Amino acid sequence: MSDPNNPRKIGKCTRCDKWAEIKITKPFCAECFILHYEKRMAKVIKHSKLIQRDDRVLTAVSGGKDSLSCAHALSKLRETFNFHLGVLHMDVSLLECTNERSEQVVGEFCKVRNIPFHFVRFKDYLGVTIAQVKAKSRRNECSICATFKRYIMNRFARENNYNKLATGHCADDMTRFFFKNWFSGNYAWIAKFKPLSLSNHPKVVTRIRPIFEHLEMENLTYAKANEITICGCSRCSYFLRKDPWNDILQTIDQKRRDFKIQFARGLEEVEFNFKESARAFFECKFCGEPTDQEICASCRLKNLL
Ligand code: AMP
Ligand code: ZN
Repeated sequence: MSDPNNPRKIGKCTRCDKWAEIKITKPFCAECFILHYEKRMAKVIKHSKLIQRDDRVLTAVSGGKDSLSCAHALSKLRETFNFHLGVLHMDVSLLECTNERSEQVVGEFCKVRNIPFHFVRFKDYLGVTIAQVKAKSRRNECSICATFKRYIMNRFARENNYNKLATGHCADDMTRFFFKNWFSGNYAWIAKFKPLSLSNHPKVVTRIRPIFEHLEMENLTYAKANEITICGCSRCSYFLRKDPWNDILQTIDQKRRDFKIQFARGLEEVEFNFKESARAFFECKFCGEPTDQEICASCRLKNLL
């Protein structure tokens, strides 16, 4: 965002005649920026066929800028696309990350927007904590947490009759994931980086990524422009921020502010010719959830105890 105290520095809004207050890619006044953000989301929803009439969409909200902005814009688009929206917030029950406030903040966010709010504690849902698993595993907290989150999001959505699961993955995430996986030779993963991942098993809920084409900076600015309260510590303290790809992409950003938007847009259009290893789907012999092995990733972790 540029200096709002001196709007003349960034010129006139791209959409109207007012002085612009925000410049991420193009200059906008606050109202036009909000419209621009929501129109881009609507375009992705239509273009990639993310939402159909009467869909039940569960959006996973961590309490951070990305998922809260995503949920806010989705709540405004409910009438345009005629769908039902719910929010799921998970308390990962890690001492350093557990945030009593986040349950309250996300709950209040939902109440004022008339969105059904679902709250799940890792400990209650899974019967174990990340700390207990960590004590028996070589995997780091982030990877244990991510496995459990994926498991709960899919299972909770299905058990509560939601047919779509939305996450707040944005253009920055997609671009970073792409390069990381490309350089590690995980080509099959790259084919998944799309705004829509259709269900490939009756127990797998279709995934949608409505802010696939939005930048983290745009999400932060949209949250501020809408006076959305963000939970301070929604990024957990274990998160390994020192990802060298952040710095590399930052350098490109300085030359092309729209680089990640254009890159994400390209990912939507390109069909990669890497055959996903024909994954057979089983149902986990412990919990019955879909898995490509005999035992699902979540039960494999729980079985360490
Ligand atoms: P992350 O892997 O932390 O970057 O999160 C990716 C997406 O997962 C977020 O945009 C949310 O949609 C969802 N998510 C992450 N953490 C939580 C949480 N504690 N509760 C609900 N959804 C979450
Ligand atoms: Zn299982």
